[in-house]
Amino acid sequence: MAQEKQIAWDLYHSYENFKEKSLTNRRFKHSDIVPLIEQLQNKKNFKVDKVGKSVEGRDIYLISMGSGKTKVFLWSQMHGDEPTATAALLDMFNFFSDDSAFPELKNLILSNLSIYIIPMVNPDGAEEFQRRNIVEIDLNRDVLRLQTPEAKILKEVFDSLKADFGFNLHDQGRDYSAGNSFNPASISFLAPAPDYDKTLTPPRENAMKLIGNLVTVLNEFIPGHIAKYSDDYEPRAFGDNFTKWGTATVLLESGGWRGDREKQFLRKINYITILSALNSIASGGYANTDISVYESIPQNEKFMMDLILRNLTVKRDEIDYLIDVGINFGEVNINGAKDFYLKAEIEDVGDLSVFAGYEEFDLSGYSVEHGKTKPEPYHSFDELEKINSARLYSEGYTTVILNNDSFQGEYSRLPFNIILSDKTIPEAKIKPDEAPNFIIRKNNEVEFAVVNGFLIDIEKIESWNDNSIVYGK
Ligand SMILES: [Zn+2]
Repeated sequence: MAQEKQIAWDLYHSYENFKEKSLTNRRFKHSDIVPLIEQLQNKKNFKVDKVGKSVEGRDIYLISMGSGKTKVFLWSQMHGDEPTATAALLDMFNFFSDDSAFPELKNLILSNLSIYIIPMVNPDGAEEFQRRNIVEIDLNRDVLRLQTPEAKILKEVFDSLKADFGFNLHDQGRDYSAGNSFNPASISFLAPAPDYDKTLTPPRENAMKLIGNLVTVLNEFIPGHIAKYSDDYEPRAFGDNFTKWGTATVLLESGGWRGDREKQFLRKINYITILSALNSIASGGYANTDISVYESIPQNEKFMMDLILRNLTVKRDEIDYLIDVGINFGEVNINGAKDFYLKAEIEDVGDLSVFAGYEEFDLSGYSVEHGKTKPEPYHSFDELEKINSARLYSEGYTTVILNNDSFQGEYSRLPFNIILSDKTIPEAKIKPDEAPNFIIRKNNEVEFAVVNGFLIDIEKIESWNDNSIVYGK
């Protein structure tokens, strides 16, 4: 185990040498990775095959490496908006393209294993940055009915390989926590059940041992941030059926990490995890791990929120009520799903002491009220840019009206929201599902505003570089 940890640390420290630099965020497309895959054909360790096409005609590739007798099958991004492992696999291709570094590890892996990889099973979904494929079928519920070409391809490759090990590589929501640890579940594992009774078959036991081994390695890097996905049997899912059909299948979910919305740190952790897994399978080391390690992994729970404002006072009929406000940010795709802006919603209000925020602010002694819409309209964007935001907040407003037919857009970089309408706006409340736009006072003086969920210190408005919302007519 000491040696496996040392190799993982060496992979960690040398990562920048192999990281695929052309992939910088989560919204890369099929057209971004095809040239990277095609060029592998000229390299000695790789075999590249096209194994079929998506609904919209995008090629799906199978990349093979190694000549050993143990077969390992990895596939990523069957959900189009879950790309973290795809990027890590491309980093790993760079690792195996290089002849000089880690010769012993590469030799161990490539001589003991035959590795088969489908990166980006759902390229049409990736194009739209959406979970489902382009005919709105969830590929991971299509293993029995096989209506989609993408699921058919995955099943056909699986059948042709009957691999000893399988890796089902996904992303999960940022709201998952590792038990009630107040930490995000940055990596979650599962050895899927082969039936409703959750039978411990030999392949499932091997998957559990391997996961236990990987958890021991990952505790070096992300202690307290590893969780275990629910093992409720899902008869329509790939992992559950692959386990039933005899492959030791590992589900790996990349979740959240503080300060890493684009998951570039978690991509690096994926890279280390996958290479550590290949090392452990090739050496047979995983078999020495007791399944009690797997059993002791905390459950995936949903105790994370993006932002929690703690200990605010809300007043009604001269009575004060102490509340926390939990806020989550949704991503709205723009520019052909190559980019996004954030749109916030109040997730919960009240005693949120069992939840943790990626960011938290203690606002003890501050009162909160909902930000209002200024009734007098503006007539041009130029006028909006000249608004003194501190004064706007001091009058209780976080939203303005713009009467200008030529203005278009869904969001802006101004520190207040815009409504493109002259209709009266119903007074919003501080309650779940509403937009979080607040005025926050101490001793009746406005000190903060919350605009589209972002806390703004009125002393530092100039440094604000988040986004507000433009509401249409
Ligand atoms: Zn998924």
